Amino acid sequence: MKTFDDVVKFHGHSCPGLAFGYRVAVAAVKELNMENISEDEEVVAIVENDLCAVDAIQVLTGCTFGKGNLIFKDYGKQVYTFMKRPSGDAIRISIDFTLPEETEEEKEMWKRYSEGDRSEDVLKAVHNRKAKKMKAILDASDSELLKITRFRISLPPEARIYPSIRCEMCGEKMAEPKARVKDGRIVCIPCFES
Ligand SMILES: [Zn+2]
Ligand SMILES: [Zn+2]
Repeated sequence: MKTFDDVVKFHGHSCPGLAFGYRVAVAAVKELNMENISEDEEVVAIVENDLCAVDAIQVLTGCTFGKGNLIFKDYGKQVYTFMKRPSGDAIRISIDFTLPEETEEEKEMWKRYSEGDRSEDVLKAVHNRKAKKMKAILDASDSELLKITRFRISLPPEARIYPSIRCEMCGEKMAEPKARVKDGRIVCIPCFES
């Protein structure tokens, strides 16, 4: 399995959000036995936010937008659902974790940082605060961190590749289900809305 370092490399920095995503992804890979997935199987991930954590999900599970097996729902929740096609084996993982209480000094340093203070003391304190949070997340047990529900669903058939057709206004091609009709002409969404 890919490590937290692999995830940091992909994401470009290490942060608590990424650590959360890593823990979710590790649990998902284990629970759905994703490492032994066959060629005829596929995992689909539904993520309910589009923050740092999702990069960890992509690296560990291989679910990406480009492949069409990463679906984003803009609910602002730390909830991740994974399902296996065609079996329909699925898990829903929600993060429910209380980070360690911050000390008065940490709060003060964070306040100074958010007001633009970049002095050495402040930077060091802010860095340590972040490292402490990440360590707490990476060290916590699954049960302290995650609520995992297993279920089984019947999945819709795999996303089809649609024929492309040409917009009669701008002349560019689009996937057929995205075509709209405007003044009797078949057009793309940007032309339809303009
Ligand atoms: Zn991040
Ligand atoms: Zn157009």
